[in-house]
Amino acid sequence: MNHRAQKKWGQNFLKDATIPQKIIQSLPLGDDSYIYIEIGPGKGALTEALLTLNHPVVAYEIDGQLESHLKTRFSGVDHFHLIMDDFLKRDIESDLKSLGFFKQPLHIVANLPYYITTPIIRKCLDLTHIASLTIMVQDEVAKRLAAEPSTKDYGALSVISQYYADIHYLFQVPPHAFSPAPKVHSAVIQMSMKKTRRLDPLVEPQFNQFIYQCFKQKRKTLVNNLQAEYPQAKAILLDYLNDQGLNPQSRAEALNLNHLLTLFQKITMDG
Ligand code: SAM
Repeated sequence: MNHRAQKKWGQNFLKDATIPQKIIQSLPLGDDSYIYIEIGPGKGALTEALLTLNHPVVAYEIDGQLESHLKTRFSGVDHFHLIMDDFLKRDIESDLKSLGFFKQPLHIVANLPYYITTPIIRKCLDLTHIASLTIMVQDEVAKRLAAEPSTKDYGALSVISQYYADIHYLFQVPPHAFSPAPKVHSAVIQMSMKKTRRLDPLVEPQFNQFIYQCFKQKRKTLVNNLQAEYPQAKAILLDYLNDQGLNPQSRAEALNLNHLLTLFQKITMDG
């Protein structure tokens, strides 16, 4: 087809056909009537592989110039549903309802447009029936998402994502697997949503803000980062660090998810 890749929409199309196969082989299986959501089908390289799994695929594509190509390529495939719009602007639950899908577990699969990786992940994590997210992102972002405490990649994005999901770094993908080739390496990661979460969903947005505040200035100690927003934090924090045998000068990166959850509860609820 005649289509010039649009930089503004992060278009790097997969040309190595083995990658979609590797992605679909990694998808979690279950006997549920689950559905797939694909963000940015592009010319359909990953879509075609997904459709072979014989579950409904709901695909969101922003680039109107790809519409007729996608419709022709998958014409007559009843379980393919195309929504030509910006994924970030849609009410996904209501789209699914209009297509006749109610409460089915959602597996989201995408070779993401890199310019909006974080907002897409955050939107997906908020979907009520999401079961997993298997996505191609920049390798550097994949490493941050899966990072362990006290490593250089560990930060707010790691903690918040690991609160919602177990994260597995699956494999790296070199630039030449795409056309046009991006400047950096990519990687596929899988986020499997945790069945239970420690906080009430109503306070989760507050927890996210708390975590951003903890890591606000990476070089500052946790006490210094928190003091401005949570004036009551200092005494609670120093007590807690002492209890856990952690240095009072610790930075947020020294604390794991459980430490940070406990601190959040102590500072915002007991305090
Ligand atoms: N899935 C295809 C593949 O692997 O070859 C294309 C991947 S390409 C990296 C990203 C795709 O996302 C492009 O088709 C782009 O037009 C689309 N896209 C970018 N921003 C989008 C948005 N906000 N909503 C929906 N699709 C978007």
